[in-house]
Amino acid sequence: MKNSKVRKGLLALICLILVFFALDLAFPFNPDIRYATQITDPKGRVVHAFLSREDKWRLYSNVDEITPLLRKTLIYKEDQYFYYHPGVNPFAVVRAAVRNAFSGRRTSGASTITMQVVRLMDPRARTYANKVVEMWHAFQLEMHYSKDEILQFYINLVPYGGNIEGIKAASLLYFGKAPQLLSLAEITALTIVPNRPSGLRPGTRNDALREARNAWLKRFAEDGLFDENVIRDALEEPLNIRRLQTPRLAPHLSIRLKQQFPDEPVIRTNLNLQAQSQIEEQVRNYINRRQLMNIHNAAVLVVNNETMEVEAYVGSADFNNPFDGGQVDGVRAVRSPGSTLKPLLYATAFDAGIITPKSVLNDVPGNFNGYEPENFDKHFNGAVTTEFALANSLNIPAVKVLKDIGTPALIAKLRKAGFKTVDKQAKDLGLSMILGGCGVTLEELTRLFAAFANEGKLRNLRLSDGDVLDKKGTPVLSEDATFLTTSILTQITRPDLPTNFDNTYHLPRIAWKTGTSYGKRDAWSIGYNRRYTVGVWVGNFSGEGVAELSGANTATPLLFSIFNALDYNSPKGWYKSPANISLRNVCPVSGDIPSDFCDHQVPDQYIVGVSAYRKCQHMRWVFTDVAGKMSYCTYCLPEKGFEKKAYPNLAPELIAFYELQKLPYQKIPPHNPKCERVFHEGAPLIVSPNDGSEYYIRKDEPQQIQLACQAANDVQEVYWYVNDKLYQKSPPQESVFLSPPLGRVKISCSDDKGRNADIWIVVKRM
Ligand SMILES: [Zn+2]
Ligand SMILES: [Zn+2]
Repeated sequence: MKNSKVRKGLLALICLILVFFALDLAFPFNPDIRYATQITDPKGRVVHAFLSREDKWRLYSNVDEITPLLRKTLIYKEDQYFYYHPGVNPFAVVRAAVRNAFSGRRTSGASTITMQVVRLMDPRARTYANKVVEMWHAFQLEMHYSKDEILQFYINLVPYGGNIEGIKAASLLYFGKAPQLLSLAEITALTIVPNRPSGLRPGTRNDALREARNAWLKRFAEDGLFDENVIRDALEEPLNIRRLQTPRLAPHLSIRLKQQFPDEPVIRTNLNLQAQSQIEEQVRNYINRRQLMNIHNAAVLVVNNETMEVEAYVGSADFNNPFDGGQVDGVRAVRSPGSTLKPLLYATAFDAGIITPKSVLNDVPGNFNGYEPENFDKHFNGAVTTEFALANSLNIPAVKVLKDIGTPALIAKLRKAGFKTVDKQAKDLGLSMILGGCGVTLEELTRLFAAFANEGKLRNLRLSDGDVLDKKGTPVLSEDATFLTTSILTQITRPDLPTNFDNTYHLPRIAWKTGTSYGKRDAWSIGYNRRYTVGVWVGNFSGEGVAELSGANTATPLLFSIFNALDYNSPKGWYKSPANISLRNVCPVSGDIPSDFCDHQVPDQYIVGVSAYRKCQHMRWVFTDVAGKMSYCTYCLPEKGFEKKAYPNLAPELIAFYELQKLPYQKIPPHNPKCERVFHEGAPLIVSPNDGSEYYIRKDEPQQIQLACQAANDVQEVYWYVNDKLYQKSPPQESVFLSPPLGRVKISCSDDKGRNADIWIVVKRM
């Protein structure tokens, strides 16, 4: 008998449990809670926040953001048996029912935290029937979630009037701090607002709120919840709440990450909160002082070289200035790089072995298949070393080096380094790309320079904690080539220091490169030391050029001041020379290994096993007659009566430059007129007109075209032929003018050694 009763009881219980499970499956309670988006720093401090889709400041907070003090106060106030009941507190229900029966009106008190959560998730009219549904839902919540999770729902959903929901939003907007940092007085105030969100509204009803707070604090004291001292301090704490703004730092990065992770309630960046706010202010002030010069924007990216974390991200000078495009993200805008790709070019050439820092390049007017670059200051320096050319950002040597390594090689490097626009433009790019004739972003450039800071290894930038550290990285350059380049970019005897640079500036120890785009639309300065790479762009988003704008004077002062604030006297030391870098003596005239006619030698760094071993040919041996008036070749060399003398072996473009500048140089005497040998090497180079070009001639006033060439040092005269007929004889440095015939025209230039060059042009009538 007894057994069957127990069995029946058990059976009923099992049935009841099964019914619960069935009901739970049939009518699940899993409300969809949409949170506002918080962008935080690595420590979880809010950097920026966006309203939820329902326009609410409902900021998600984690269980670990609930301090024991907050938990204790909340549970004592709202639901003392929270940890002991299954969602519904039966004693409280009975008590409330009895009270209601006697008083004839409904009073609350039976609501547990779980039931409050149910009502916040799914608000219903207050009827007895709904109360039963809510109890059922509360029970469901308890089946599916732990007590901590339910408490967390409560903390995240509890209303604070207006569009503020949850303790984190209230804590930030009323006290300007994270919930973990709240005092007992602040916690108490925050826990009582939800009981009367309008009557106790912080900021507008501060007096009422303080009274209510103190009443509760006294109750805490009576019940011995906290020490008397603690309560006394809390009672004396003033309450001056005013509604604050949500944090608004790093707006461009925040928008970017929100677009990337639209449904994440918390997105953790790697921003250094202090650096971010400091640099935002620096950029704002810097641009404010330049508004009168018509310079309105700037962008800055700060990358930690070791972790590749983006510690500061400033997209514009003022996000809230719509007139100057403040919402444009200058970190991602595609702009002309000016000269900022030159370090990559020279480093690539170091790796290819074709140059070393002391290799001599000619900074003289040149014509590269029709492209005639000029220097920034329209001045030519003649023969210069590679390190001088890079440190002074000379254009012609850069174009020459690019021509030597080939644009496809540089484009391949840039592709490997993640330059997206260059990748798209690839087939349209020519030699001008090294002077800014392509599109890049500040992000791409800063990442590239961080590869220089990391021994040539390119690694991903880490904007948020979702970006993993690429420890190995992609080798874009060798450690040796980056070391040589870094050494050159560290030199401070260079023209791209700001012109008003003096002792009032503290010069940070960094390697840096400036850039100014065509039309003075973009000023760049990108620098690095062991710890940080900082990219700075200054200009106008409208693309308007400004005469005073330059990388040196407009972007570099900002770069220096950011470095000084960020990493003053960096403790990390400087780069050490890699094992493969060694010293050798070279001839200063060429930068090549000295020959017996080279009377000076200078030390030069080179990459062992990579840098070319070229014997210097800055002079060449020439056989002349005793008077030095005539030269011989081995073919016409007489048996006696000659001398062997060294003459400068000058490139044709350098001779043309010396002639143009009227600079003296040692000429090789004219060749033996009786010699019959035909030479092939060292033919004249026709620099005008361009091979393959088309000319349109007007019938009424036909224009003349210029014939110009560059010839070797031993040439006295050249002969111009048009369609194989002799047109004119002239000294090699003099231009000749021609009224060309129509159609396809062959133009030839022969020198007095019989060396010849041909080109074709097409002449049409307009
Ligand atoms: Zn030499
Ligand atoms: Zn000869």
